Amino acid sequence: MKQSSLPELALQIASGEVRVVDLTHTLDPDFPVIILPPEFGQCARFRMEEISAYDQRGPAWKWHNISLSEHTGTHFDAPSHWVSGRDLPDNSVDAIAPEVFVGPVVVIDCTVQSATDEDFELTPQIIEEWEQKHGRIAADSWVLMRTDWSKKSGAEYLNMRDDGAHSPGPTPDAIRLLIDQRNIRGFGTETVGTDAGQGAHYTPPYPAHFYLHGAGKFGLQCLANLDQLPPTGAILIAPPLKIKDGTGSPLRVLALVPAATNSSASR
Ligand code: MN
Repeated sequence: MKQSSLPELALQIASGEVRVVDLTHTLDPDFPVIILPPEFGQCARFRMEEISAYDQRGPAWKWHNISLSEHTGTHFDAPSHWVSGRDLPDNSVDAIAPEVFVGPVVVIDCTVQSATDEDFELTPQIIEEWEQKHGRIAADSWVLMRTDWSKKSGAEYLNMRDDGAHSPGPTPDAIRLLIDQRNIRGFGTETVGTDAGQGAHYTPPYPAHFYLHGAGKFGLQCLANLDQLPPTGAILIAPPLKIKDGTGSPLRVLALVPAATNSSASR
């Protein structure tokens, strides 16, 4: 690495030559969380209560107590989140090496298909077609599935019906390809989970969770602003909170994007 690289990066960010894109939804009590079948435990929404607000409870200061699940809002999934990753070493958010919280990211644009098919599946064929245009996915990359699902809100976002949620996601074979043949770092989505809304019906159920975490890989979900990322060439910054034995964590996800690159919208 050139000695001058880091100061140069700081100048590029300051000048706008490198853009910082926020891929995070605001933590808000109204932001939906995943809903599991009623026999299972449920994930809590974000809650905030005032401790004081420059008043008799604290005349010169304002602050809040907050509560939420590890898996509320834009959040990171660690390998210990899933039974397949239960016995891996360093599988909780506090034990993961910090180097892997910064790294390359590629974006596979599935917006056109997802607009007309709420159960759209990312398949190996779609990944390979993407690679024919943009090059082979480099080892240790984050792979994000862009669907523009983050532009939905409320009931439309979860899209729950009598038979469960309906939202796009990867097939088991697609996830296996990304892990076994590309050795990615992690997989991220704009939806409430890394799996499709109907992911319970695959074999194994919830294949993205099962295979990613079993292989020591990470997940990101409830991402936003993926339309501002290029297909390749950006850097993702995604450090979860350091929760002891935490299986995941809400976080601020940022991307560093060279200003000259086109977004994935211009396929
Ligand atoms: Mn999660």
